[in-house]
Amino acid sequence: MTATVVTPPTTDPVRENALPDVYDRVESEVRSYCRNWPATMASARGSWMTDTSGRQYLDFFAGAGALNYGHNNPVLKAPLIDYLSQDSIVHSLDMATAAKTEFLETFERLILRPRSLDYKVQFPGPTGANAVESALKLARKVTGRESIINFTNAFHGMTLGALSVTGNSMKRAGAGIPLVHATPMPYDNYFGGITEDFHWFERVLDDSGGGLNHPAAVIVETVQGEGGLNVARMEWLRALAELCQRRDILLIVDDVQMGCGRTGAFFSFEEAGIVPDIVTLSKSISGYGLPMALTLFRRDLDVWAPGEHNGTFRGHNPAFVTATKALETYWKSATFAENTAAKGQHVRDRLESIAAAHEGISARGRGMAQGLKCEEKDLAAAICATAFERGVLMETSGPSDEVIKLLPPLTTSTEDLDAGLDILAEAVATTVS
Ligand SMILES: *Cc1c(COP(=O)(O)O)cnc(C)c1O
Repeated sequence: MTATVVTPPTTDPVRENALPDVYDRVESEVRSYCRNWPATMASARGSWMTDTSGRQYLDFFAGAGALNYGHNNPVLKAPLIDYLSQDSIVHSLDMATAAKTEFLETFERLILRPRSLDYKVQFPGPTGANAVESALKLARKVTGRESIINFTNAFHGMTLGALSVTGNSMKRAGAGIPLVHATPMPYDNYFGGITEDFHWFERVLDDSGGGLNHPAAVIVETVQGEGGLNVARMEWLRALAELCQRRDILLIVDDVQMGCGRTGAFFSFEEAGIVPDIVTLSKSISGYGLPMALTLFRRDLDVWAPGEHNGTFRGHNPAFVTATKALETYWKSATFAENTAAKGQHVRDRLESIAAAHEGISARGRGMAQGLKCEEKDLAAAICATAFERGVLMETSGPSDEVIKLLPPLTTSTEDLDAGLDILAEAVATTVS
């Protein structure tokens, strides 16, 4: 894995950042992140990435939330290297392996039992979309119903089932076929607090003229990461959970991005005091950026027949090894969650002061998923581009890319958080004026 310097030394910042032309010549137009961040990355450690020219970047993107414990975390890397050097099992479908036994036992001991969650664990395939697909399939199989309720600006992945419950019209259009059996409802605060948005759902459910088939499930994110850092209020989440229970509708919380401590607690729904029927986890569950996903569900919902939902890569043992170590390291006590909450509050305070200095910019988010919403069109992207030039990676989110989203690794030091926030503040000031 030696890094090659492919661009000639130059002082021209554009040439310096240009990508090797093989990307243009060979890789599909579908590529996206390398367009916003035109640098060839060579190595990374913690919250920092280094490109092939030796330039360093503070990573406030963290693999879209897949790197909650930072890049190449040495605590997780050591057992991974040991595991590989001993010719341990790497690929095993869903055979039993020592690494899988240890993961399941640790997950039960450190995550499920202390929270009194009586969930079964399914390995649905390595991606978040795999977890969402299996959750939707299971909900339909259990209830014998077809329709799913999703929310405005939801994001659940790119496969057909996951896309059918995703809001973004550009991504939906990519399906090329009708996306059916899903009905969007307004997410919390969709009408800016003017209309009691939530009660619309209950009203159409009750109304025999409402035109809504009795749904199998509701799928919801507690904070919409891709949809623009929309934060559902705890009372909204509780009301949704109660409504689902009253109406015999399964509640699926998609915790792919906001789980694994992003909002503080291990699961983002813990703060609301709700217990979903089905939960999806992926992004940071392996802890090391290795592909891995879980679908969790109430024990009595486990109606799968053996092999009914399978997949080649459901037994990526290196991911089990780092996942186990991440749980052992960060989730044995409440300290990590408390630190995340404190860091999140610090980031929020600083964002509030940036927002206070600029008309049309406001702070939003929960825990260590924080951001700035920019009213002016294209401003958020311009600020992110300026921040990149100054060495900070941040992406936009929201239906019009109007939100600057900060997802630093949860292990980022306060000094590094402040360094990145200083650059963000400068980038806002220079871009706005
Ligand atoms: C990223 C994400 C997914 C999809 O995960 P992939 O691994 O990209 O398939 C699903 N739901 C949420 C909330 C996500 O953030």
